[in-house]
Amino acid sequence: MKKVILLRFGEIYLKGKNKGYFERVLLRNIKTALSNIDCIVNKTSGRYIVSDFDDMDYNNIVSKLTKVFGLTSLSVATEFDTSRNNIENFLANFKTNVKTFRVSVKRADKTFNIASNEYEKILGEIVLNANPNLKVKLKEPELELVVEIRENKKTYVLTESINCAGGMPVGTAGKGLVLLSGGIDSPVSAYMMSKRGLELVALHFHSFPYTSLQAKEKVIKLAKILSNYTGHIQLICCPFTEIQEEIHKHCSPEFMITIMRRIMMRISKIVCDKFNAKAIITGESLAQVASQTLESINVTNEAQTTYPVFRPCIGMDKSEIIDISQKIGTFETSILPYEDCCTVFLPKNPVIKPHLNKVKREENKLDVEILIEQAITKLEITEI
Ligand code: ATP
Ligand code: MG
Repeated sequence: MKKVILLRFGEIYLKGKNKGYFERVLLRNIKTALSNIDCIVNKTSGRYIVSDFDDMDYNNIVSKLTKVFGLTSLSVATEFDTSRNNIENFLANFKTNVKTFRVSVKRADKTFNIASNEYEKILGEIVLNANPNLKVKLKEPELELVVEIRENKKTYVLTESINCAGGMPVGTAGKGLVLLSGGIDSPVSAYMMSKRGLELVALHFHSFPYTSLQAKEKVIKLAKILSNYTGHIQLICCPFTEIQEEIHKHCSPEFMITIMRRIMMRISKIVCDKFNAKAIITGESLAQVASQTLESINVTNEAQTTYPVFRPCIGMDKSEIIDISQKIGTFETSILPYEDCCTVFLPKNPVIKPHLNKVKREENKLDVEILIEQAITKLEITEI
């Protein structure tokens, strides 16, 4: 008899011939999440099982596993070899202080030849004998004793399930490049796309010395928090100071942000090529600021059309984005008061509905290609 943790995963994506692939990637991600903890992870039919861990590590294991995308729920369970004797002995010794309960039998092993509902009644009687003050309540009991009789000839008894993050295993949907500022929205976007199975590379533009080293540290910290969900992230820092100085010097101020965002997109395209990412992810939300009007988004999109730009926050209110950032633990770091490169040389009246032709005319005052080339040679990579 031993204590184990049962891990459940979504079924939808496991139909069809990619099943084995999804299962292998998810197993790898589970093992990576638990790599610093002494334990064993195994796969049985339709489940993963964590065993041979120290009780002291239980909370830590649960905290890590609830962040692994692809898992839907987990339960701590008692495992023993399947036999009527073992099951009934275990329940005869089961003590509880609650007032109402039910037994639910899930019989995946059809060679165990008592029908589930019949066995529920037998086991219910046994538990009642051991706990005279207890009453059976089939709907919404205080305690549901689940007895799972599995194909691997093991039985698992459990009493509760903890929800996990859901989604798809990271890596199964390919790789995406997230434009990570120090703000609230982009870490939320990163989380949401990683949840759909994208492995992440992050790109941060900094304007040192206009922006401080602390601003960069903040982004590193955000990437570290995200990595609890996404696994390993390569964080690429790209100098943006010279580009901003050049725009400031040569272009009309109201186009500053539009041109900056177009250059960010072009650099992102090159970084995608280099790091084998196939999509760009941003934290934009429609109409939140001048650069996020439909017109601005169109003009930004026109700067590169090789890769799709995913904006998972596009239809969300700020309060909804904040709720997610609090849930995933990035909020407190995001609101630290360090400046972002977008706040350097900020114009008083940025254009709200930019016209592509006018923007291009302004942009042509710069040697964009050379500026981008120079920035690309100075990329710094931090492994998170
Ligand atoms: P956030 O809260 O994510 O910073 P925001 O509401 O401040 O977003 P903007 O500053 O207009 O909005 O930025 C829009 C998006 O552009 C960000 O969500 C992010 O994806 C990207 N971005 C902005 N600044 C940077 C930066 N310095 N480095 C990388 N990406 C950036
Ligand atoms: Mg920002």
